[in-house]
Amino acid sequence: MSRSYLAGLFGQGIGPSLSPELHEREGLRQDLRYVYRSIELDDAQLAPERLRGLLAHAVELGFDGLNVTHPVKHVMTPLVDELSPGAAAIGAINTVVIRDGTTTGHNTDVTGFAAAVRQGLPGADLDDIVLVGAGGAGTAVAHALADLGAGALHVVDTDRGRAERLLATLGPGHAGRGSTDTPDRLPALLSRASGLVNATPMGMAAHPGAPVEAALLHDRLWVADIVYRPLVTALVRSATERGCRVLTGAGMAVNQAADSFELFTGRPASRAAMVTDFDEL
Ligand code: NAD
Repeated sequence: MSRSYLAGLFGQGIGPSLSPELHEREGLRQDLRYVYRSIELDDAQLAPERLRGLLAHAVELGFDGLNVTHPVKHVMTPLVDELSPGAAAIGAINTVVIRDGTTTGHNTDVTGFAAAVRQGLPGADLDDIVLVGAGGAGTAVAHALADLGAGALHVVDTDRGRAERLLATLGPGHAGRGSTDTPDRLPALLSRASGLVNATPMGMAAHPGAPVEAALLHDRLWVADIVYRPLVTALVRSATERGCRVLTGAGMAVNQAADSFELFTGRPASRAAMVTDFDEL
């Protein structure tokens, strides 16, 4: 009989998360006994001491790994025994691997976005990229682009302080090639850019519209949107109409789950099948 795996997700408002289904379907496909539990945290459980206790319980109860999401990605980071180099660089984790009583934090938002770009935009020109949105997801995207060898990275946010804090998390080499701006500078930045990433919530049902006017898009630009509910955002639609190469938010969502699955099990995930699962969910 195959080995069994126990995984879970710590966070708040995680009811709609697709992670349990993506992980368990992949486990089933690989003939594994794989259980993935959502663990909704209440406000009192957000205190670092309570989280430290919950993590210790997960270790004692035999969990193989955890995903951690909003609002505990930063607060959990100092609670694990070890950090992967990528997680240490960004200072936030979304995955904890538990092996022989030791917890190791990873960030598969970073590796997942990088995998999505390699898979969905092969050969994309990374010389001059505009990243709109400098929150947690935007920071993961910036680190992924740096890892992929991006040249100039222009970080745009309505709150310029956030863009500056993001840039400071990149190593001196990359930060030196970066800049921060507010959205009024988008026309100038995009006229010479090779790529655009949306990491704001714009495009979601609760945040309708696009962070960039359609008239600023041109067919020399690739466009990635990390919003995945809906998959076809206003930005994805206008970029497609303009003839841009387009990557939807499914790429990051599926690849971060696939990377976590591989870390938990040590087995390669069937990424193409997980994309089909994602489309069905
Ligand atoms: P966040 O709220 O931490 O950050 C969003 C940032 O965007 C903020 O800094 C805000 O000031 C900025 N912003 C908002 N509107 C803007 C605009 N019009 N122009 C410029 N800047 C603007 O959110 P987050 O956790 O970073 O997530 C952002 C979005 O990314 C989520 O809403 C979600 O849809 C998506 N996301 C996708 C994945 C995936 O796997 N595909 C993973 C995580 C998050």
